[in-house]
Amino acid sequence: MFITIEGGEGSGKTTMVGRLAAYFQNHSIPYLITREPGGIEIAEKIRSLILDPSHTEMDARTEALLYAAARRQHLVEKVEPALANGLTVLCDRFVDSSLVYQGLGRGIGMEEVWRLNQFAIEDRMPDLTLLLDLDPETGLSRIAANEEREYNRLDMESLEFHRKVREGYRQVAQRDPERIRIIDASRPPALVEKELIRALESTVLK
Ligand code: C5P
Ligand code: MG
Repeated sequence: MFITIEGGEGSGKTTMVGRLAAYFQNHSIPYLITREPGGIEIAEKIRSLILDPSHTEMDARTEALLYAAARRQHLVEKVEPALANGLTVLCDRFVDSSLVYQGLGRGIGMEEVWRLNQFAIEDRMPDLTLLLDLDPETGLSRIAANEEREYNRLDMESLEFHRKVREGYRQVAQRDPERIRIIDASRPPALVEKELIRALESTVLK
């Protein structure tokens, strides 16, 4: 099973990935947790290149290409082998992030970004995508309160950008309601976790 978790800044993806790992462990489900951009050496290097706050001159299409390159390498090197070995793979971000951040946020257009990503992922799509939906004001204030989080180039974006991201996620969820489950991430973590597990148990872990 290939499961992805998506959402805007401060929506709680990292926290929930940790909780789902505990769930897999408690239920003796063999799993792999990974993240994008990153998860393997080449892709982590691309990640630092993209997110380096000093790279303010980076062109939107360059950014999209780099995300797609990191995605490709991560997919063939880590995700596909794990799936082939029967693991449940939970990935923090995947192609929907690019559709939304580069397609809508950066204004390249979702269709263009989709075409680029088809080249990178071929036919691989998640069996289930958990979308942590949160208003960007709340997300950004959560981030501001989190001292462990490293500053990145995206932190310079306006509230308007993050509003587009949220809107974009809602659009992709609307287009693919079978795959994408919208979870209200404004609630306390224990409730969000409960709903995520319910979504898993009613679909891929049935
Ligand atoms: O998920 P995480 O917070 O680790 O992502 C790192 C940064 O990369 C975030 O600021 C996120 O908005 C950004 N990002 C992006 N486009 C993507 C994936 C992530 O701008 N396709
Ligand atoms: Mg995170």
